[in-house]
Amino acid sequence: MLSVHTSPLHQPGTGDAGGMNVYIVELAKRLAAIDIEVEIFTRATTAALPPAVELAPGVLVRHVDAGPYEGLAKEDLPAQLCAFTHGVMQAWAGHRPGHYDLVHSHYWLSGHVGWLAAERWGVPLVHAMHTMAKVKNAALAEGDTPEPAARVIGEQQIVRAADRLIANTDEEAEELARHYEAARELVAVVHPGVNLDRFRPADGRAAARARLGLPADALIPLFAGRIQPLKAPDILLHAVAHLLEEDPSLRERIVVPVVGGPSGSGLAKPEGLHKLAARLGICDVVRFRPPCAQDELADWYRAASVLVMPSYSESFGLVAIEAQACGTPVVAASVGGLPVAVRDGVSGTLIHGHDPADYARALRPFAAEPERADRMGAAAARHAESFGWDTAAAATAEVYTEAMRERRRLRSGHG
Ligand code: UDP
Repeated sequence: MLSVHTSPLHQPGTGDAGGMNVYIVELAKRLAAIDIEVEIFTRATTAALPPAVELAPGVLVRHVDAGPYEGLAKEDLPAQLCAFTHGVMQAWAGHRPGHYDLVHSHYWLSGHVGWLAAERWGVPLVHAMHTMAKVKNAALAEGDTPEPAARVIGEQQIVRAADRLIANTDEEAEELARHYEAARELVAVVHPGVNLDRFRPADGRAAARARLGLPADALIPLFAGRIQPLKAPDILLHAVAHLLEEDPSLRERIVVPVVGGPSGSGLAKPEGLHKLAARLGICDVVRFRPPCAQDELADWYRAASVLVMPSYSESFGLVAIEAQACGTPVVAASVGGLPVAVRDGVSGTLIHGHDPADYARALRPFAAEPERADRMGAAAARHAESFGWDTAAAATAEVYTEAMRERRRLRSGHG
């Protein structure tokens, strides 16, 4: 596997680390469990890192020197792809021929390295976009910076070069075909999973609230994830301001945790959300928390009345499925993978558009009827159970097998 711009060892929830890191870790572990050994190449970002780290039995993370450890943003990395590829080739040169059976690249930067490596090694290239420039640009938050044309071109090249593409949802498969002219039969849809051992209702909402020092009877709409315009935590704050305007007595019993750190275009104004809370006069109810390990995040999910995801685009939205697995319903924008992750009216509410008043309207019943969180939360936990990583790994292994079979067929066809 190739993950150039972010390491599976990084803490997700801030900067360049998010769902893709979790995806790679969980998928690689489950693949290893079914006898598919995985090596993950990623760019070294500190001098202290050993060249290789065992993440789990059968999963090795290899650190590649490509450019300085610090000071390079993701946008600078296209200039480091040759250096990175050189590192990958050096590691390969130390092995017997045929060491790698297949390359699975994640995100377009890795796709370019994978393109060359797979061709050199005579093995298939399987690629997962995770996000796509054209899709992001079609649904930008107001004032957000569009993805550059160079990325669009880079993505188009990978779509042409890859043996197989893996999409999170049917919607993403359609987007690959519509925006990048991917051949539909080469796109496999594999839903990401959720770690059901870690994300489960456990001892319930009241106990989680007690552990986190949150009031037992409060309305707690939670935001969790990278703080950037496309995730739109500002819409949640506006919605909360609406609720408080309508019912000032709610101020005594509402807490709005925002768990995560700045990322992407959000890095330009890291204080932006704090300032918005001040402008809206709701600093007393909003609690900003830095990104935390998933075991702690699970408690934030359990404690919440509802997870709120007003995102402009979301290739899947792992936090939606994690919160539900913990027994918490989700109010989400009806974009990207969220209509798959959330069962509208059963495990949460899907909202068309980004009007804060609509989000306030969806939150109001949770304030009026606190048992709603438990009732919908139970349905949410049941819904999440169908998203195990074992299923995702088995489906991914099937894609690998097909891609390798197709290669063999072509090779024998050509004599
Ligand atoms: N996450 C975390 N700690 C935090 C906030 C988020 O570990 O404080 C993880 C979360 O569990 C999820 C991932 O970051 O697995 C975010 O994935 P998602 O698909 O929701 O968003 P992305 O970052 O890919 O846009």
